[in-house]
Amino acid sequence: MARLASDQTTKEFDQSAAFWRKLLAWLAAHRRDLPWRRDVSPYSVWIAEIMLQQTVVKTVIPFFERWLGRFPDIAAVACADEREVLTLWEGLGYYGRARNIHRAARLIMQQHRGQLPDSYDILQELPGIGEYTASAIMSLAFGKPYPVVDANARRVASRVLALKRRDRSAEEQIRMFLGQTMPPRKAGPFNEAIMELGQTVCQSRRPLCESCPLKTLCLAFRKNLQDLIPSKIASHTTQKRSILLLLISDGGILAKRKESGIFAGLWLLPTIPDNGRSKAAMGAFISEGGKAEIPPLYALRPRTHHYTRYAQRLKPVVYNVTGKGVCPADGWRWLKLVEIDSYPFPSVYRRILDELRATQG
Ligand code: SF4
Repeated sequence: MARLASDQTTKEFDQSAAFWRKLLAWLAAHRRDLPWRRDVSPYSVWIAEIMLQQTVVKTVIPFFERWLGRFPDIAAVACADEREVLTLWEGLGYYGRARNIHRAARLIMQQHRGQLPDSYDILQELPGIGEYTASAIMSLAFGKPYPVVDANARRVASRVLALKRRDRSAEEQIRMFLGQTMPPRKAGPFNEAIMELGQTVCQSRRPLCESCPLKTLCLAFRKNLQDLIPSKIASHTTQKRSILLLLISDGGILAKRKESGIFAGLWLLPTIPDNGRSKAAMGAFISEGGKAEIPPLYALRPRTHHYTRYAQRLKPVVYNVTGKGVCPADGWRWLKLVEIDSYPFPSVYRRILDELRATQG
């Protein structure tokens, strides 16, 4: 029975058997047919859970299918080069996830005979696998009783318990509640059900309480607090404005591979801040690569690049740079436009490059 003496609201919740039975009955009737639920393996759970971090289900589906088509097992990922892995990930964002999968796949081949270990602790020694992913693999693939606390499960649990706090002790309380409420032999379906309920019924805005299987047990619903729980966290996005330089020379475009940071392994195009000193900065940069015809040949449609907490407004301008073959220092390289598809770029850069190629005929 789920009882946590430390919290008054949790004491009010005393119906764990009814809780999981209602959840599992609801899952049986409403389970969505998703590609990672068809042929469940530790590998498919791992890839799906990493892709689903920060990304919605609808977006992940084609990426997951493409990934499994190209890399049907861990050995295939380990043998691929990083450029191909990142190119396949292009459009999903948060590229560190792909780099970690690649590194982890190589370690699994070297240290675990090509199989994901069925140990919660050993899984977390692999790059990119933390408590959340380890719990998902342990429960969904190996059937072991580890609660998976993603944003959806956290929201459902905090509403069921009417937990207003959003701190470390609330997090521990949620984990304990889910661990104690979970039926040990049905850990996978239980975790799947609570995450699915959070995605489709107990949504962050306007939860569909009237059609929720937990409404008779939910303390937030009983107290009409469902719209106030969990409490909101203010998020701040920093806006940046940049001019994106599309420097063309002899069928090539100037680009640079990032070696570190969130874009490590990806190729980027030169940018300069869009402010009162842009012209001077642009002239200084372009003269590094040869003589540019100033003003630019033409501009392309501005686009916004969202990453972490930044929104970067990019104004792409196209320059034809004379001084054939000139390649500036600092790792900038001329990539042939006809070969650009085999280089991984952030998806907004890819869209700009596609537009550039269309204008170049
Ligand atoms: S009753 Fe409403 S608030 Fe409570 S778990 Fe269901 S959808 Fe969420």
